[in-house]
Amino acid sequence: MMSCRFLLAAIAACLLCACSATLSSATPGGDAPTLLLVSLDGVHPDMLGRGDTPHLDRLAREGVRAAWMQPSYPALTFPNHYTLVTGLRPDRHGMVHNAMYDDDLGAFALKDRDAVGDGRWWGGEPLWVTAERAGLPTATMFWPGSEAPVQGVRPTRWYPYEDGLALEVRIDRVLGWLSEPAATRPRLATLYFEHPDHAGHGYGPDSPQLHAALRDVDAAIGDLLSAIAARGLRDRVNLVIVSDHGMAPVPAGQVVAVEDMVDPADAQVVSTGQVVGFRPRPGREAAAAAALLGAHARYDCWRREALPARWQYGQHPRVPPIVCQMHVGWDAVPRANLARRPDRTRGSHGYDPAAPEMRAIFIAHGPAFRSGTELPGFDNVDVYPLLARLLDVEPAEHDGDARTLLPALRDDR
Ligand code: AMP
Ligand code: ZN
Ligand code: ZN
Repeated sequence: MMSCRFLLAAIAACLLCACSATLSSATPGGDAPTLLLVSLDGVHPDMLGRGDTPHLDRLAREGVRAAWMQPSYPALTFPNHYTLVTGLRPDRHGMVHNAMYDDDLGAFALKDRDAVGDGRWWGGEPLWVTAERAGLPTATMFWPGSEAPVQGVRPTRWYPYEDGLALEVRIDRVLGWLSEPAATRPRLATLYFEHPDHAGHGYGPDSPQLHAALRDVDAAIGDLLSAIAARGLRDRVNLVIVSDHGMAPVPAGQVVAVEDMVDPADAQVVSTGQVVGFRPRPGREAAAAAALLGAHARYDCWRREALPARWQYGQHPRVPPIVCQMHVGWDAVPRANLARRPDRTRGSHGYDPAAPEMRAIFIAHGPAFRSGTELPGFDNVDVYPLLARLLDVEPAEHDGDARTLLPALRDDR
């Protein structure tokens, strides 16, 4: 009898031991997973599943993928990256273009470090600000907006943007963060790759250069995944992989000189490319309007108040008085740049976000997500409420719909 009772106690003790060991290895320190938000600039859903991206394809297959994600207007990098982390349309968060003019702040350009790092350009409340205020550490391996104090708050750790920084360096930094103890490990981290965008612009979306950039970025993600698995961190990371927009081919010669759109004496050019903004010069308003407004062979122009409603664009004071939208496959550049343009197909984005070429990607994988789930296309403002939910923080006011991505979640209550 005695020995049997002893045996039972020993078995119970062993079970208890095994149980606590399992618990601690599944959730080290009992802490919550890190949300890792990855952006692959300029990647279209059709670029996946073509043999260049085995690791992304596996994540998409084993986790959640959307048929596509529609960017917000304008389909450019800064406006859409900032929409993804605020859930606000660019017209509401104020990053209305990569190139802007503000009556108080002057000009904004991507390459202007002072402007990019000036919180006054960045409206709304990015997710890392909400998280930091809730006491959750955040860290960014590049993300538009992360270099500026927004509402006085920056991520705990962030880096000034460095074009071309080696992929391994980025991966190593993120891996270092994921491996930290619960007290310092970021609960939200970002990782950004510009490579597909660069190759797409230079040589077009179906170029060998774009295929090579996809393979490089995919291999880097593969390395990150292997290291996460090798360190036993798989249950500690929820991955959300997105792009900001797709890419359309621009055949050689499909370009308009902005000076041919309107006489520079009648209107000042605020932005070129695909979403071309003009400020009529004082006293020349009628001449500028006569030259620009309406439909043209390669573009259409509106007063900002009259832009198509579906773009939800034109209220913010930074939107120029006249906006011209280039047709898919056409660019507008200053005449001085025409001579430097290589005589080959290249790529552009910034076209109507409803154009299929502008579609972006969405993939999610990790303990919070279902397996083998494909979702229909959705708007990129809907990502933000999902991210807020994964961090268990109260989302700020936003333009998204929290219900869109509930089917992605294991716990969808
Ligand atoms: P675009 O193609 O004009 O929309 O601009 C995209 C480019 O912006 C990318 O290819 C990057 O080189 C650049 N970029 C991305 N993030 C940042 C950043 N945080 N600061 C400055 N430039 C950036
Ligand atoms: Zn981009
Ligand atoms: Zn681009």
